[in-house]
Amino acid sequence: MNTTTIKRLLPTSTAGSLPKPSWLAEPEALWSPWKLQGAELIDGKHDALRLSLHEQQQAGIDIVSDGEQTRQHFVTTFIEHLTGVDFENRKTVKIRDRYDASVPTVVSAVSRPKSVFVEDAKILRQQTNQPIKWALPGPMTMIDTLYDAHYQSREKLAWEFAKILNQEAKELEAAGVDIIQFDEPAFNVFFDEVNEWGIACLERAIAGLKCETAVHICYGYGIKANTDWKKTLGSEWRQYEQVFPKLQQSNIDIISLECHNSHVPIELLELIRGKKVMVGAIDVATNTIETPEEVAKTLREALKYVDADKLYPCTNCGMAPLSRDVARGKLNALSAGADIVRKELSLSN
Ligand SMILES: [Zn+2]
Repeated sequence: MNTTTIKRLLPTSTAGSLPKPSWLAEPEALWSPWKLQGAELIDGKHDALRLSLHEQQQAGIDIVSDGEQTRQHFVTTFIEHLTGVDFENRKTVKIRDRYDASVPTVVSAVSRPKSVFVEDAKILRQQTNQPIKWALPGPMTMIDTLYDAHYQSREKLAWEFAKILNQEAKELEAAGVDIIQFDEPAFNVFFDEVNEWGIACLERAIAGLKCETAVHICYGYGIKANTDWKKTLGSEWRQYEQVFPKLQQSNIDIISLECHNSHVPIELLELIRGKKVMVGAIDVATNTIETPEEVAKTLREALKYVDADKLYPCTNCGMAPLSRDVARGKLNALSAGADIVRKELSLSN
């Protein structure tokens, strides 16, 4: 294991998912079915992981990931590995108060009989000495993707998931992961619960970890249910304001946010001053590739509220539903935009 501390100014990364090759899964879709089976599928996923890493490296991304090549969906794939959840017994629930989905049912105590992503993380670790980041679903987002017929309490179920996530996170850390990120789009919707127990669950999930930890809070993939929801949010998106004060006080090291092309008032970042911030400078809801100058502009705005040594240029969210060409173009733009601002910072010193 050769973990690298992050020394470069403005280290770039992605929020998580990247497009899969068309020989592995149907392109430009979420929940896309696999095209391979059995041993071929396992090999294919790992080949795609290496390819995804290579594309990030070609684009000059500093903190690399697996591009989520081994999972069908960022929440469901993790839950599929747990006991206590019946995937045959499905109920329709409203996900994040936004859209109906048929989801599995929690029928008994949940547990993690074996690790979920640890073998994949070891493969990524073997391929590179660069810092690596691994994404897991957050406890609140997990409970929002299930029907609970056992605990009958969102808080209790989230707490159980937090304990399970902590087991997985500790094994990922031991496998050499440098940053463990929890995806919590639900933090943008259930503000009272976030403040009452959501952040406490997140802190339970990171208890005892020595690696860096991050929480990713976004306005979702560029799918229709999300873009329709965004149209109802008005001209100023102040959702982050509800959860930032308590997050600023939390033990989480890094907060990953949607900032580019969004209606989030950038000055809200002042509320998390002191935290490292993964600033979303790439819009994942459009095929238009940002220019490096557009990326630089977003980063310069963020620099008014985030100290330069704490600013991590990133994407707004995952890029799984985009074409590989578009995703590659966006990765290149992110690198080039960060480079512009790095040069400006070195000149002003
Ligand atoms: Zn996201």
